[in-house]
Amino acid sequence: MEETIFQKIIRKEIPADIVYEDTDILAFKDVRPIAPVHILIIPKKRITSIAEMKDEDAAVVGKMFLVARNIARDLNISEKGYKLLIRVGKGGGQEVNHLHVHLLGGARLTENIHPVGEE
Ligand code: 5GP
Repeated sequence: MEETIFQKIIRKEIPADIVYEDTDILAFKDVRPIAPVHILIIPKKRITSIAEMKDEDAAVVGKMFLVARNIARDLNISEKGYKLLIRVGKGGGQEVNHLHVHLLGGARLTENIHPVGEE
């Protein structure tokens, strides 16, 4: 399995603006934000995507959503609302093959989905 940039971020080999960390989860600001708040929440364990998720990963994936909820509360975007986005595979637009939840907020977000070609 090819190493991703996120594993280097987990190991602190490359810098990231980390907003939350525990034994299972890391959350950091997206380097190319598409919303005023754009945070990536990842498991420290390598899970390639939701398509590759195993039954035993259910707890850590559930925890990713609790972390997203807590960060949204801390950043005061919870009341107005936000978007959680998970891309799955090439057809879903996933670029980094390490599971991540995008936490997007701080603005009124549209529902745009941009097809870019055949799968
Ligand atoms: P995907 O398209 O796979 O759902 O999203 C990958 C996200 O990772 C993109 O939004 C991209 O901007 C972000 N990203 C890629 N490389 C880095 C990096 O080195 N640091 C940070 N903070 N974000 C990254």
